[in-house]
Amino acid sequence: MNEVREILHCVQNDRIMIKTRFAPSPTGFLHVGGLRSALYAYLFAKKNGGTFLLRIEDTDRERFVEGAVENMVSALHWAGIAIDEGVDMDEGDKVFQKGDNGPYMQSERLEIYKKYVDQLVDQGDAYYCFCSKERLTEVREYQQLNKLPTGYDGHCRDLDLSEAKKRVEAGEGCIVRMKMPKEGVTTIEDMVRGKVEFQNKLIDDQVILKADGFPTYHMAVVVDDHEMGITHVIRGEEWLPSTPKHVALYNMLGWELPQFAHLSMLVNEQKQKLSKRHGDVSVEDFKEKGYLPEAMVNFIAFLGWNPGGDRELFTLSELEKEFDFAKVHKPAAVFNREKLDWYNKHYIANLDTTELVERCKSFFTNQGLEYEAWNMEQIVKLEQGRANTLLELVDNVSFVFAENLEYDPELIVWKKSTREDAKEKLTLLSEFLESLEGEWSTGLLEEKVLPWIKDQGFGNGDVLWPTRVALSGQKNSSGPFEIAGVLGQEKTLSRIKKAIELL
Ligand code: GLU
Repeated sequence: MNEVREILHCVQNDRIMIKTRFAPSPTGFLHVGGLRSALYAYLFAKKNGGTFLLRIEDTDRERFVEGAVENMVSALHWAGIAIDEGVDMDEGDKVFQKGDNGPYMQSERLEIYKKYVDQLVDQGDAYYCFCSKERLTEVREYQQLNKLPTGYDGHCRDLDLSEAKKRVEAGEGCIVRMKMPKEGVTTIEDMVRGKVEFQNKLIDDQVILKADGFPTYHMAVVVDDHEMGITHVIRGEEWLPSTPKHVALYNMLGWELPQFAHLSMLVNEQKQKLSKRHGDVSVEDFKEKGYLPEAMVNFIAFLGWNPGGDRELFTLSELEKEFDFAKVHKPAAVFNREKLDWYNKHYIANLDTTELVERCKSFFTNQGLEYEAWNMEQIVKLEQGRANTLLELVDNVSFVFAENLEYDPELIVWKKSTREDAKEKLTLLSEFLESLEGEWSTGLLEEKVLPWIKDQGFGNGDVLWPTRVALSGQKNSSGPFEIAGVLGQEKTLSRIKKAIELL
């Protein structure tokens, strides 16, 4: 069965199967820009019946952060992005790897990189470099002083290979550099940016193997994308300057190039690059604030892509059908928080109430609100149509749980009315509420109280405003009948009584 699947996997209708990847470095939380790269790579694979792979690029040991792999995978799971191949996590949050092209953690692939580095050295496309840190610093300082482009000066490029090998064997410290072609132009056909050209002479000889035996990003990414059968490399535009170096490596190794797509930067409304200094940037931040994955995915998908037309609401599976690189834009995409709130509010308002309760539970718990004894559906409904985030929803209904509501008594007084008037209205209303018979509910209250207000010759606002404030202690909240329905008769009456005392 697996074999059949594997064959189907590689060739379908004589077409090469599309395989994309997301290749984060485990240096912290998943940035929203990373989520967009992952999402586009995932959507493109799904649209084309292909495979989405997750690889962890952990060759920079100094920047490795404990728990980062788990964070990245759990952020992808949260967004609904399923990993077909590579690094994944099981239900017990244990990281594991799946697929035939592994390992998928670069730190476990050192032998593989070494093999290709040796090949490049032996065929004359790479060389051992023995330059000391001090020498490199001197070269750089000289270049800076003379306003020359900075970069390696090629000092070891033409060393005799057998001599160099002897020095390596004798234990002399060294790194390996690739020989960038010194002339000509590297041209990339980018799926987002079209034709992009690079002057080779402006690119210095890149390090491909470090002194610690780890490959650099350039070497590892090329080897892995090739060995793992990646057909489309989709990543942020910050990697565009690296691409000619990668192309040179593909050429040296005689490998077919993948297609490249470099996604434009995400900026904030001030057109600055999205960074931690300016607020939330990690998927985790948004999750903790109570953004729904549905909203986040829909919003992120539109950061740089638009299917055309007016439609803005798409579920993940609808995006899987619609996504198209022809409609990915080149200009930087603005991360507009208001738009994200608009999406989130929409998805919260349209969520099944039982499901909404489930999603709010951890937020109630985090605020120390013990919800077990309450009718939670009624409570979340108070704010379901109004809240921008789950956190806001929970904040805005937390008054329900208060043992002793604290608020400014002036708030109870409606517009041009007076304290005395508010007190009178609340006193009369509480007597009426006490006399009410039948099952206490929002419906019953509406049915009985509105005609009573009319009979008394009062204005609705004169009674309902003070009542609403008495019950919620808030300037803005849902209506008094809804709140009273949630609180029950006893609590409703005691809150009104307290308001009367405050006046
Ligand atoms: N490891 C790189 C990163 O952290 C991957 C860049 C790429 O996709 O090639 O984003």
